[in-house]
Amino acid sequence: MDQDLIGIEEARRRVLGCVRALPAEPVALGDALGRVLAAEVAAEADVPGFDNSAMDGFAVRARDTASAPVELEVVDESRAGHPATATLGSGQAIRISTGALVPAGADAVVRVEDTEPGPNGRVQVDRRVDPGTSVRRAGEDVRAGQVLLGPGARLGPAELGVLASVGLGRVPCAAQPRVAVLTTGDELVQPGEPLRPGAIYDTNRVAVTAQARRAGAMVVDAQTLPDERGATTDTLSRVLGADVVVVCGGVSVGPHDHVKDALRSLGVREVFWGVALRPGKPTWFGVHERDGGRGLVFGLPGNPVSALVTFHLFARPALDALQGADSDRRRVEAVMDADYAKAPGRAHVVRCRAEAREDGWHVRPTGAQGSHVLTSMLGADALALLPAERASVAAGERVLVELLGAG
Ligand code: AMP
Ligand code: MG
Repeated sequence: MDQDLIGIEEARRRVLGCVRALPAEPVALGDALGRVLAAEVAAEADVPGFDNSAMDGFAVRARDTASAPVELEVVDESRAGHPATATLGSGQAIRISTGALVPAGADAVVRVEDTEPGPNGRVQVDRRVDPGTSVRRAGEDVRAGQVLLGPGARLGPAELGVLASVGLGRVPCAAQPRVAVLTTGDELVQPGEPLRPGAIYDTNRVAVTAQARRAGAMVVDAQTLPDERGATTDTLSRVLGADVVVVCGGVSVGPHDHVKDALRSLGVREVFWGVALRPGKPTWFGVHERDGGRGLVFGLPGNPVSALVTFHLFARPALDALQGADSDRRRVEAVMDADYAKAPGRAHVVRCRAEAREDGWHVRPTGAQGSHVLTSMLGADALALLPAERASVAAGERVLVELLGAG
């Protein structure tokens, strides 16, 4: 490994070692997509809450159908949301809709397809049914008292649906980390504006902001700084109240890189500087103790690929941990489907297309891997982490990858 540089794992350990989880707050279910549960959630009642019909048809006593075809007297109707008032007696049927409460006295449902209308409002049942046929039992999905989700669960559509099914209007979630995203560079112009000679579009503000949001954060500030010590210090001092500050660019050792010095002058303590990583070597991380808590500050390299990669490797796990969620579950082993040339010294983070096959995950580099080739991130669903000490990797070897998807 390059001298003075720490490895990816050590950097990540140091970041996570600085995280203090944010407090919990109640969140309405409709606002909870992407949030992280802060406590265990158990069901208070069974789901479904009552025996109900799996079919449109007729609720019957199964034994009345033993000698089908048989005619039964239709005495009532049970519709979804409108239970029948009658109790089912011998020789009787109650018309029933899917999801409607199975009336007292009935123990099975005959599908409408297995019946024919009979005379005088009667129904002819053409096929016998057994007790329980086409009945969904109370509690078949969820039992009262059952733990549905634990702390740290990220709430997606399925989780929200299950929480809704047990009637919860709000759930305790970790507070959203408040994040400030700063980009730096005299060359940067916002997309939509005309370019000056030598200028480029500010890619990181929008891309890193999107990464932060996807990690469950609330981006409270997004600004672009000139390569100027005074302005850099001023703006940083104003955003240091955020839980996490991400500064992109200006952290290297050039004469116009002011971020590290400005942060030090503002009392942000350096935790590491430089990771044995490609892309992403000039990555800085520090903490800022202040009234009301601790702020985390990431100085990410300006190259857009490096910024996205280092955000994913270090800032995203911090945002997860602030919310009490685990990042490691995104790590899987995969077969590398192509040769990859590399010298020992630094870990390489290779943008890959991932595919789940019968024998597990397979990955293949998306193309040119230069840190200025942002299109290498298009179509990338995984980052392969090739260890620092490794030389080239041959097709067929197993490698550690991080899946980039949400959640
Ligand atoms: P720096 O880390 O400031 O030395 O920047 C490294 C490279 O990334 C330079 O080519 C910058 O022009 C470029 N760069 C820095 N910030 C951004 C950004 N926000 N969007 C696009 N390119 C950037
Ligand atoms: Mg710069």
